[in-house]
Amino acid sequence: MADAPVDAVVVGSGPNGLAAAITLARAGKSVQVIEGQPTIGGGTRTEALTLPGFLHDVCAAVHPLAAGSPFFQSLRLDRLGLDLLQPGAPVAHPLDGGRAILIERSIEATAAGFGQDGPAYTRLMSPLVRKHAILTRMFVGPLRPTRHALVMARFGLHGIRSALSLARGIFKEDGTRATFAGIGAHSMLPLHRAGTAAFALILTMMAHAYGWPVARGGSKQISLALAAYLQTLGGRIETDRWVEAIDQLPNPSAVLFDIAPRPLLRIASDRFPTGFRRALDRFRHGPGVFKVDWALDGPVPWHAPEVLRAGTVHLAGSFNEVDAAMAAVGSGQIAERPFVILAQQSLFDATRAPAGKHTGWAYCLVPNGSTVDMTERIEAQVERFAPGFANRILERHVMSPADVERYNPNYVGGDINSGMADLRQLFIRPTPRLYATPDRGIYLCSASTPPGGGVHGMCGVFAARVALRRARWS
Ligand SMILES: Cc1cc2nc3c(=O)[nH]c(=O)nc-3n(C[C@H](O)[C@H](O)[C@H](O)COP(=O)(O)OP(=O)(O)OC[C@H]3O[C@@H](n4cnc5c(N)ncnc54)[C@H](O)[C@@H]3O)c2cc1C
Repeated sequence: MADAPVDAVVVGSGPNGLAAAITLARAGKSVQVIEGQPTIGGGTRTEALTLPGFLHDVCAAVHPLAAGSPFFQSLRLDRLGLDLLQPGAPVAHPLDGGRAILIERSIEATAAGFGQDGPAYTRLMSPLVRKHAILTRMFVGPLRPTRHALVMARFGLHGIRSALSLARGIFKEDGTRATFAGIGAHSMLPLHRAGTAAFALILTMMAHAYGWPVARGGSKQISLALAAYLQTLGGRIETDRWVEAIDQLPNPSAVLFDIAPRPLLRIASDRFPTGFRRALDRFRHGPGVFKVDWALDGPVPWHAPEVLRAGTVHLAGSFNEVDAAMAAVGSGQIAERPFVILAQQSLFDATRAPAGKHTGWAYCLVPNGSTVDMTERIEAQVERFAPGFANRILERHVMSPADVERYNPNYVGGDINSGMADLRQLFIRPTPRLYATPDRGIYLCSASTPPGGGVHGMCGVFAARVALRRARWS
């Protein structure tokens, strides 16, 4: 069937693809989104991966970035069916011996659980939370001039440090250091690396400012709400159509690719000069993930019962163990005791499992493309802090890095951030042109552009703005 003429085509319906399409449509352009999979959503899909009646987030599960995204906020997705549910506490970090430290919604309640480190926590986080709107806007986009240089400079003093050195410098207790390092581990980098403190600070700030919510009915509700919004603007979405070559597309003024640089090279290589092809090919990917979803006979039997109040649980125990797990992956090794990120959505969203039953979602990092089966190591970490967990497992679904990449070619080698987010590639990705390419008809709008991985849509927004300025609109 011939494509009807449109101003712009977006290839890929992840949150960034849909955000790009909405931004173009809001500017009056006609837009068609083309998605390879039978359903839309990219990293925001929810499926019955295990048993009938159990709903699992295939990729993204926890949404501080969606809650804090200025773009999503502007769309009022709540009016289109998106209900972000706030767990009692954003994060729990269980420790050996049956205790756990929680990041609560309020700074005061969190500090109360931080023991002698409470006052230091309050001093560290209060100024950041007070300036959360400015900091969020700065971090969900490319580097750009700001009127808030003082706020940024204050943040930068801490943020430029490694998560290890900041944790050691500010906190005295091992548990609080471990909790802070665990949040820094979302950088997916070894925690001695400069800049990893920024991830810990921003994500902790977001826990207080926006929460770490889960979506009622699953993360797919985010893409369904975005798609509904796009359709109100006349945007069209076609699924089940993989784009293999740019020539297969109609001839719009702009094509925006919600895909990683290497897949883009396969699709549009002959439209780029050699230097740009090389630059795309040099883009570095981060570690892969090994993921497990469980259908459970009951909630996870945490030794520390307060962990049941948290949406997200970080499993590694001590500060040294978090450090060792991240360092191992950074040097291409498997961590025997991996740092596991676990989400327990069904505790806060009854739609995820039959009455009395529950779901669990977890992953750990592994070297990019690793073929080692991490199921036992992940489950051993859960069992360590929740004795009897294994007996609650009714069914499991496992995804290796290769499965993750097969599911979505953006996640090269299982890299769920679509590109390493170290200082060199955090703000300048995938090339210094960011969203643009040498061809004024071709743009990149995926998480391989700033601000990188996560469900926030901001890569799509900025890419669309560049296309609106730069493409030759007919
Ligand atoms: C296991 C896992 C856990 C995660 N956890 C979280 C989390 O808790 N919170 C969070 O904020 N983020 C999380 N993320 C990251 C988040 O999902 C991604 O960063 C985000 O989805 C990126 O959005 P995107 O629009 O750039 O691309 P994607 O979501 O990857 O979407 C790209 C889309 O393009 C389609 N596509 C690709 N190539 C083609 C082609 N040639 N033709 C047609 N269609 C094509 C794909 O099928 C896909 O639908 C997680 C990711 C994974 C995999």
